[in-house]
Amino acid sequence: MFAKIRNRLTVQYIMVMSVLLLSFIIVSYSGILWLLQHEEQQEIRAFAEEEAREHVDILKQIKAVPKDEPHDNSGGKLFSYVYDNQGRLVMADLPSSQIRSAVETAVGKWTMPDGVGEVMQVHLSNGEKVVFVMCSQHVYDGQEVMGRVYVGEDITSYYKMLKLMLIVLVIVAILFLFGAAYLGHFLAGKAIVPIRQSFLRQREFAADASHELRTPLSIMLTSVDAVQMDDGNRLTIFSAQTLADMKSEIKRMSKMVTALLTLARADDEAVNISKEKFNLYAVAEQVVRSCQLIADEKGIAIELLGQAMVPAFADKERIGQLLLILIDNAIKYTPSASTAKVSVKIVALKKSGFSIMVTDTGVGIPEEQKELIFERFYRVDKARSRAEGGVGLGLAIAKWIVESHGGTISVESSPGTGSSFIVTIPK
Ligand code: ADP
Repeated sequence: MFAKIRNRLTVQYIMVMSVLLLSFIIVSYSGILWLLQHEEQQEIRAFAEEEAREHVDILKQIKAVPKDEPHDNSGGKLFSYVYDNQGRLVMADLPSSQIRSAVETAVGKWTMPDGVGEVMQVHLSNGEKVVFVMCSQHVYDGQEVMGRVYVGEDITSYYKMLKLMLIVLVIVAILFLFGAAYLGHFLAGKAIVPIRQSFLRQREFAADASHELRTPLSIMLTSVDAVQMDDGNRLTIFSAQTLADMKSEIKRMSKMVTALLTLARADDEAVNISKEKFNLYAVAEQVVRSCQLIADEKGIAIELLGQAMVPAFADKERIGQLLLILIDNAIKYTPSASTAKVSVKIVALKKSGFSIMVTDTGVGIPEEQKELIFERFYRVDKARSRAEGGVGLGLAIAKWIVESHGGTISVESSPGTGSSFIVTIPK
């Protein structure tokens, strides 16, 4: 149980760490990306304005001065195109041939206002991606438009660096997660120590208390018996009734204490399951016989179905206890009626495995409580359970017996019609 809690705590810790790391990566990556783009746009705008200033005079003398041949600037990152107001190319610092056509297409279709940069991407035939930022600015001489400059910068290397940073961040985060898993497991182990100790102390207490209570309870029971049997004692009707009530309460308490002791020992794994070969049908017959009297009192018919020989390899005493709990419950929660019936079906499975099905025509169990009834002290109808002498521990013990044999127990029921408890125990 504690190993499960420890693992669950570790998983939760890792999940929290993963969310934190992921958020950190997303926030820092997008932050840096935004900063980079912002910086680049500022820079390219300043460059465009500078180029526009520088080319005012040149554009003024354009008729007098022959225009320059475009200058290939593919070695550098910056590029620029200067056009006169007729749309003729006057000067150019060309970008690398890889992006030249994309840049020139962008210039041809440029719609952005002056001073506003735009980041663009080109996918090359070799699968690589080239990123560049562009901006444009009109060249003014006073109020007169002399031409227009288009400038840009190849910023692929920044993007490559950013991509590398992302990979490094992801690797670091994965390493961190491994560290966090180890640390989480270690810390969860430490946190569980006091809980485990107090749990163990409580379990010990429950076992000791129920053990110690058994002796005084049996003394009380014998004493009540002795008083009831004392012929010389003249009991009033009231005293006789009180004694009878006391006896039934003491019996109930003894039953509860025995059940508590069984569960406390089961928790402590102090109860050994000692398996042997036996005929399950014969054990079931015995249990049915012992329940016959109370069934007859309520007018409930019990039938035992199955083959007379069902070989089982299990703890005979515990399986008998399991059958008793299920049959006793079936009788307890089936009201007297001419059609009231409890049937016990025993089926042999492969390799000495077996299944038990106890069906009744009783009050049934609401759908949402089918799982809960196997919990300690859980009762669908407390008053009814108490009136029937129940303490709410029977099915918890039944579940423990079944699980300690590696089997399963389940219930099918519809309120008002009846219930079926199905137990399957493999070899
Ligand atoms: P109890 O001592 O109260 O019978 P159990 O652990 O045996 O305790 O059962 C828990 C609860 O499950 C019962 O109080 C009852 O409400 C419900 N229950 C168990 N068996 C049946 C049944 N055959 N039909 C209807 N309800 C049942």
